[in-house]
Amino acid sequence: MTSTSPPLTTTPLIPYPQKYPGEGGRGPPAKIENMDRIYLDANATTPVLPQVVEAMRPFWSETFGNPSSAHHAGQRARSAVDHARTSTARLLNCSAKEIIFTSGGTESDNLALNGVLQTYLDNHQPAHLITTAIEHHAILYTAQSLERRGIQTTYLAPTREGLIDPEAFEAALRPETKLISIMLANNETGAIQPIGKLARIAKAYNPAILVHTDAVQAAAKLPIDLSGALKNIDLLSLSGHKMYAPQGTGILFVRTGVTLAAQLHGGPQERQRRAGTENVPGIVALGRAAGLAQDWLASDARQPENSVIPTTQSSVISTEPRESEADRGGSGETCSSGPAQLATLRDRLESGLLATIPNTHINGPSGGSTNRTPNTTNLRFDNIDAEALLIALDMQGIAASFGAACQSGATEPSHVLLAMGLTPTEARSSLRLSLSRLTTAEEIDRTLTLLPPTIARLRSLT
Ligand code: PLP
Repeated sequence: MTSTSPPLTTTPLIPYPQKYPGEGGRGPPAKIENMDRIYLDANATTPVLPQVVEAMRPFWSETFGNPSSAHHAGQRARSAVDHARTSTARLLNCSAKEIIFTSGGTESDNLALNGVLQTYLDNHQPAHLITTAIEHHAILYTAQSLERRGIQTTYLAPTREGLIDPEAFEAALRPETKLISIMLANNETGAIQPIGKLARIAKAYNPAILVHTDAVQAAAKLPIDLSGALKNIDLLSLSGHKMYAPQGTGILFVRTGVTLAAQLHGGPQERQRRAGTENVPGIVALGRAAGLAQDWLASDARQPENSVIPTTQSSVISTEPRESEADRGGSGETCSSGPAQLATLRDRLESGLLATIPNTHINGPSGGSTNRTPNTTNLRFDNIDAEALLIALDMQGIAASFGAACQSGATEPSHVLLAMGLTPTEARSSLRLSLSRLTTAEEIDRTLTLLPPTIARLRSLT
């Protein structure tokens, strides 16, 4: 039989790259007219630190074994995974056995919610989940899918400042409440939730309630002490690419004694809680990034003139003496000088913009920088379309965002800002600037020079 249908087009609209950028193909230009780009979107992803790249490099070629293999190559890979597990556990002050390596924050969040609540669905038992309206979609959409399958779900609204009110939380607890999932720090505003207090309230109501926190935006920015201030947290999610390790790596902390139904079935890896051959280079990278983060967080303590932030959130600050990087087998190098100095840079940016651009407001907790992550500011510029602003800034070499990275390009206003009570127009006038440990004072000053005239120009056009 001969086909009469027209042949498929042979000329693709976008030429397929013959080579990837690293092989000599064209990547995005690193510089614009000899000007270095300024990256202020670290909440979307962070660069992988050179020390982390060095640590993972041998595990692609020289030490490429499968950790499940009994031979020498396999056992070297196994030992590297074990080492990384210990290093990550030290960052969180928990046991290495309580760490499950995953493919990132999304998988960890899905595993936490589905893994805990599946038993109730399987046994047709009533179960109630409390979460918030400002969670990342990895939680919100998982909660919605569980709701469709019969889990009663409460989505707590935040205050205008983006914080969860402990009294409203307490009022939502019910006899059937089985799981709480409330983020430690918000990805859009940086607001730090009083999760230690909320967990205490939940356990006082019913010690059997399990508490999960999405700490993707808090890890490596704030100390997390799962044996101290956060000892009532049962499950905690982290993502490697928000803490200077590669994309596609993550952790779920599961406290000893918590029953979790595996969501990936196959091999016995990760104590039968997450099947699949381990991503050895990624896991090694996470372990190295965790060691560097621990050293970076401790560096404020070594600089007594700097106050440790966030001061009002002392519940998440560990006061325990920490081991030095050398004690942990690291080399002692740090990339920048600690959260207090990062917050100083962020405050310089924020106060500079508030002082020079009229009709500018902070979205998020008031009271200075004390209850926000040290690297994040979310600003609202009246009569500005943030999408136009983002494009204008990108043309000047500044990378920013108006919310979660997955929303970029979407026309919907941020669900976080709407939940905080902003109007759609206000939400669309908001810009997130998130600094990394590598951001320099010179970059902040250049942003302070470039942003005000850009806003003035855009305002003059409307
Ligand atoms: N949770 C929060 C708060 C996040 O900000 C993100 C990513 O932006 C995620 C979860 C998802 O993490 P990942 O990108 O590693 O899947």
